[in-house]
Amino acid sequence: MEEMILRVAGAANDSIVDGPGIRLAIFTQGCPRKCPGCHNPETHDPAGGYDMPVSTIIRHIDENGLLDGITLSGGDPFMQPLPLIPICDYCHEKGLNVWAYSGYTYEQLIEGAAGPDATELLRHCDVLVDGPFVLALRSLELDWRGSSNQRIIDVPASLAAGEVVPWKDPKHFDWD
Ligand code: SF4
Repeated sequence: MEEMILRVAGAANDSIVDGPGIRLAIFTQGCPRKCPGCHNPETHDPAGGYDMPVSTIIRHIDENGLLDGITLSGGDPFMQPLPLIPICDYCHEKGLNVWAYSGYTYEQLIEGAAGPDATELLRHCDVLVDGPFVLALRSLELDWRGSSNQRIIDVPASLAAGEVVPWKDPKHFDWD
């Protein structure tokens, strides 16, 4: 079978800033939005970056025994859903969770605005941080998000409920 290839801007092993725990963050190449203030403008051009075979990403996952999960970031990972779906499957087989970022909202992805394969990728994610970065709504107080319009969404719970369900950190203890 032909090797699937992902176009990437880079990856960060042992990331602690792209979701909870220790994560392999994969920064996919290509995003059409050009949000003012975007932190990763070098990821916008779909022709930039470099090719990474899916098997190489899986090897990186296997080589890091400390991972809690992976994070699909970018760029917009939902522009390249097909090579990412088997990576999500592999993570779930290993008990790792999958977070993904997108400039699309959850509702747009569910409705197919990025195409049916992107909707399928969403169904393979555990958590979606959705929506574009909005400079006017930027806040340094937010965990794992750049601006307050972005939501951290529990994808399986949202699919089951038919509406957006916010993700709750299982390690958070509420004193109230
Ligand atoms: S959606 Fe994300 S990667 Fe794309 S331009 Fe906006 S902030 Fe940058």
